[in-house]
Amino acid sequence: MTRRYNFCAGPAALPESVLATAASEMLDWHGKGLSLMEMSHRSPEVTGVAHHAEQTLRELLSISDDYAVLFLQGGASTQFSAVPLNLLDGKASADYVNTGQWSKKAIAEAKRYCDVNVVASSEDTNFSTIPPFESWQLGKDPAYLHYTPNETIGGVEYFWTPEVNVPVVADMSSTILSRPINVDDFGVIYAGAQKNIGPAGLVVAIVRRDLLGKTDEHCPAMLNWEVAAKNDSMYNTPPTYSLYLAGLVFDWLKERGGLSAMETINREKAAKLYAAIDTSDFYANPVEIQSRSLMNIPFTLADAELDKPFLQEAESAGLLNLKGHRSVGGMRASVYNAVGMDAVDALINFMQDFEKRRA
Ligand SMILES: *Cc1c(COP(=O)(O)O)cnc(C)c1O
Repeated sequence: MTRRYNFCAGPAALPESVLATAASEMLDWHGKGLSLMEMSHRSPEVTGVAHHAEQTLRELLSISDDYAVLFLQGGASTQFSAVPLNLLDGKASADYVNTGQWSKKAIAEAKRYCDVNVVASSEDTNFSTIPPFESWQLGKDPAYLHYTPNETIGGVEYFWTPEVNVPVVADMSSTILSRPINVDDFGVIYAGAQKNIGPAGLVVAIVRRDLLGKTDEHCPAMLNWEVAAKNDSMYNTPPTYSLYLAGLVFDWLKERGGLSAMETINREKAAKLYAAIDTSDFYANPVEIQSRSLMNIPFTLADAELDKPFLQEAESAGLLNLKGHRSVGGMRASVYNAVGMDAVDALINFMQDFEKRRA
């Protein structure tokens, strides 16, 4: 068996040891004679797995009891609707920051429910910058402020948190668990699992409890955070296997020293790759230096004609899923927690070799 280096933006690489554990437990989970996948979600085994996953996530992120941790479904995209449905509380508008494709999708969905005040947009720089907070035009009476701390497609990331006097809602799908955050700065954090948490099919939402119970009466029960909180995320059948794998990933993160240790590694990985791009005339990254993502690193080749051979040769060299998003073009290397320094080194070696032969 040869496992290759996977730079996919999502569903993304998972830690090999987690996959190995899952494989060894696939047919017979902990001597129970069946797979965890085949067990009732109401069984003590599965509720125990869910409880353990929640506790480990609480430890990793230092989440206080003031927050509910919810395991939901429908992808982060479903939360684009759940956010206004749970938080508007009769208010007519919400503030949104537009820093890329995921912001845009969140805005489009919120517009079904309220007036969206776009406080700032970086569309004029092709989403290669983050508008400074001083320039934001905050609304008069918004229910909340929504932003995207890491834009997975453009590769721009905030290294600061907006301070406003309404709840801050953050789509952390591609940055959660990459470094420590202060959960108390947020009203709501949500993240699709398939980048840095586990397999697709699961969404984590961390909701300040005082924001529960304000849900619009027309909100489907499945999108109602209070319903999820009251039912320990088991109002209906949750994606039990994804939850189990997420729990194994949380254990893996704890074993590796938690999020401060991950931040150190992630910063080293990103710094190395950006340095390789910046010191070459052949490769380029369009993002302003102070907003460059630690997790998603887009880069272009000096000659777009070489994109195709680059991708073909990379694949032959065991470097997978480097094609950039269709809206940006070029390449994108996603270097989530499960993508190690060895993968980054292999990519840089390949890039330098390709440049030597093709420039
Ligand atoms: C991947 C991603 C999404 C969409 O997630 P789905 O689970 O496919 O709905 C939303 N926001 C961000 C920032 C993402 O990276």
